[in-house]
Amino acid sequence: MGGQLQGKGVDVENYPGLANVTGPEVVAAMREQAASFGAVFECEKVVKVDTSKRPFKIHTNSTIILSHSIIVATGAESNWMDIPGEYEMRGGGVSSCAICDGAAFYQKDVVVIGGGDSAMEEALVLARTSKAVTVVHRRDEFRASKVLAQRVMEHPSIKIKWNTVVKKIVGEAAPSDAEDVDLDNQQKFVTGVVLSDTETGEESTYATSAVFVAIGHTPTTSFLENIVDFDEEHAGYIETIASSTRTSTPGIFAAGDVSDAIYRQAVTSAGSGAAAALDAERWLSEEGLGNEQAEFEAELLAELMADDIGMNAGSGYNAYDDAGGRGNGVKESARVDL
Ligand code: NAP
Repeated sequence: MGGQLQGKGVDVENYPGLANVTGPEVVAAMREQAASFGAVFECEKVVKVDTSKRPFKIHTNSTIILSHSIIVATGAESNWMDIPGEYEMRGGGVSSCAICDGAAFYQKDVVVIGGGDSAMEEALVLARTSKAVTVVHRRDEFRASKVLAQRVMEHPSIKIKWNTVVKKIVGEAAPSDAEDVDLDNQQKFVTGVVLSDTETGEESTYATSAVFVAIGHTPTTSFLENIVDFDEEHAGYIETIASSTRTSTPGIFAAGDVSDAIYRQAVTSAGSGAAAALDAERWLSEEGLGNEQAEFEAELLAELMADDIGMNAGSGYNAYDDAGGRGNGVKESARVDL
């Protein structure tokens, strides 16, 4: 739980009101706060969502959860190069977030991989604190917007290596005097990259203290294929209606990185989470769900009708009854015992 924020080893610096706290600390505090208001956590992987009838069925790896509305906030993951050294040295100089980790490389040389807006922004953020930034891009022109690309190309502390790919990230273990260090499994720290010229194939080693991989993000939304509409311009991002968090399927809302190809910050995601909660609450209320007065009247009407025509009142599913009136969805497996 916690996604990209959970992976942030350094302090979160761009969230109003927070100072000297790491990503995992923020996640823990958010979780505690949600629990204090009655949120129930189910740590399961969602494999499919069935919207053919209401309540929706959320299929996980072990059960089915029923709910009248869903807020999708499964985030996005940074794309990685999948090259030697990259995985081993995450936390040792390999990162996908300059805002989060850049300050750790104060007055050092750093490399940014990519040619899109993210890479430009990473380079500009790093240029504030690093000694020199080298952007390594596989083509001879940037994909990024003109303004950002221009700022990077004109920046005195940023160099660009065109038509170049990073083949390998190299590093070494930090010197340690401790006797019980496991040399095979010691965290390694970046010391350089092996570059390859895409035109000549020539390889060279380039010294650097950190590598920031900025080759795009992939939202975690594949389990919603054919369930909601996706943004035509940004593959994998859920399309939301107007400036709301509503999706093409009534009752499903999207918050954070799953529907945000632009800002993708913890604070903007938290804000859209709040908006999604309001949208979902309003939608439930419009549907006559979660509104105690409307539910009471509907129940009374059902009872009167059952008396009149001998129907078995209350046999329909009501998530609010199952959850003791708190409005939570409930696992189908749990319903059997209810
Ligand atoms: P992006 O636009 O998809 O750019 C990814 C970059 O990484 C491209 O330059 C691509 O090279 C390169 N790349 C991809 N795979 C690679 C690989 N395996 N090896 C080497 N290079 C590789 O992704 P993004 O920069 O994260 O931006 C995503 C979206 O968010 C875009 O629509 C962008 O406009 C938006 N965004 C906007 C802002 C802003 O407006 N301030 C900031 C950040 C992001 P090629 O060019 O050769 O394909």
